[in-house]
Amino acid sequence: MALSFYNSLSRMEEEFVPLEKGKVRLYTCGPTVYNYPHIGNLRTFLFEDLLKRWLLYRGYQVTHVMNLTDVDDKTIRNSLSQNMSLTDYTALYKQAFFEDIRTLHILPADFYPEATAYIPQMITIIQDLLKNGYAYETEDGVYFKIASFPSYGKLAHLDTSSLKAAASGRLSADEYDKESVSDFALWKKWTPEDGNVKWPSPFGEGRPGWHIECSAMSLSLLGETIDIHCGGIDNLFPHHENEIAQSECYTGKPFVRYWLHAAHLIVDGEKMSKSKGNFYTLRDLLAKGLSPRAIRYALITTHYRKPLNFTFDLARQAEASLKRIDDFLFALRHVQQSGIPDPSLHTTFLEKKRAFEESMDHDLNIAEAMGHLFDIIRAFYEHQSRATLANAEEILSFFVSLENVLGFIEGSSSETLSPEEEALFQARIEAKKNKDYAKADSLREELLRRGIEVRDTPQGPIWRRL
Ligand SMILES: [Zn+2]
Repeated sequence: MALSFYNSLSRMEEEFVPLEKGKVRLYTCGPTVYNYPHIGNLRTFLFEDLLKRWLLYRGYQVTHVMNLTDVDDKTIRNSLSQNMSLTDYTALYKQAFFEDIRTLHILPADFYPEATAYIPQMITIIQDLLKNGYAYETEDGVYFKIASFPSYGKLAHLDTSSLKAAASGRLSADEYDKESVSDFALWKKWTPEDGNVKWPSPFGEGRPGWHIECSAMSLSLLGETIDIHCGGIDNLFPHHENEIAQSECYTGKPFVRYWLHAAHLIVDGEKMSKSKGNFYTLRDLLAKGLSPRAIRYALITTHYRKPLNFTFDLARQAEASLKRIDDFLFALRHVQQSGIPDPSLHTTFLEKKRAFEESMDHDLNIAEAMGHLFDIIRAFYEHQSRATLANAEEILSFFVSLENVLGFIEGSSSETLSPEEEALFQARIEAKKNKDYAKADSLREELLRRGIEVRDTPQGPIWRRL
């Protein structure tokens, strides 16, 4: 089956065909740098990372833009309450964001545009929308007139009859819900609550609305029509709906061909909230002793369109699954038997590898794909006594290539012993050969003290670093 994604716009799974053969223009709404990202934000960023890695695995050249929202209602409110300039305040959280994505092994985007660097482009779009009757100016700002765009609501599948009633109102807040459908702010004229945050514009000093920021950055860096735009489901309305309205009225072209949205993350079955004490950032989880690798595993292996219930049990299961993968790769690296591959293991491996790829092609069904991966591991252990180097090499090379997709197979990197450790390891083999078990045991302990575990397998002793 060809690569396909569930498109929020059509509410159907569609075959993925990029505008330009072999190339993908990808825009993902980035963080609002007013705080540390919480694990719900990170779940979305990890889904986008998996999407990008799978596109790369399938041979696409991906141009990825992820914006940083460094001016909006929230950044201004928090910087003022901390008595800091907007620039100094957001710099802290830009840095925190980059630390988090490095920790979680997220591939960097090609561009991280900052909203405050695109104000002139936003002003150009707003001027054009005003000129063509899609926007109007009031005493407090410039608003997009949703009644001027008949397909307003197509992404959120809004009921058009309720739209007519709503069309008379307007809202200046960046965030609101479906019940408050209304004309929205493109430009907000300066008020004392904005402190010294303001830019000059033909419509008076002020600042952009949140939604116009993504339209301007996407248009500037990726062009009028892009292949994929992602975000969390929270961004679907009003943010993405408004991005479509502004962009399509400005260019007269479709803005985005495939809209992909990640579902919510809940913790212990409940919505995350600071008052319930179940609100976590990456730093909180690391402080509780979870490894970045297990956090990545736990946040990535649920299908992105399913709500993810994060629990510490889930994180422990992730640790256990990773240990299973590490042990398997360890055993695989120590297969020594030469000769032709075991045919049954070979066939099962090829079937499961294909099944893994098909699951991923089918709207990134990672949960199903991981099932096929563990089937390969099971099949290996069942055939371990007959497995040859040729079997091990083909399976290993697949797993090594999967590190680029999953980003948590890092146990597959090859390791060596120092000459001294190697001497101890060989001395133990010698001792066992001479049936000097007491000496063999003391050598095993000596290696263990150096952080090296030795185990005896049907194919001879193997080692690994703990
Ligand atoms: Zn956005």
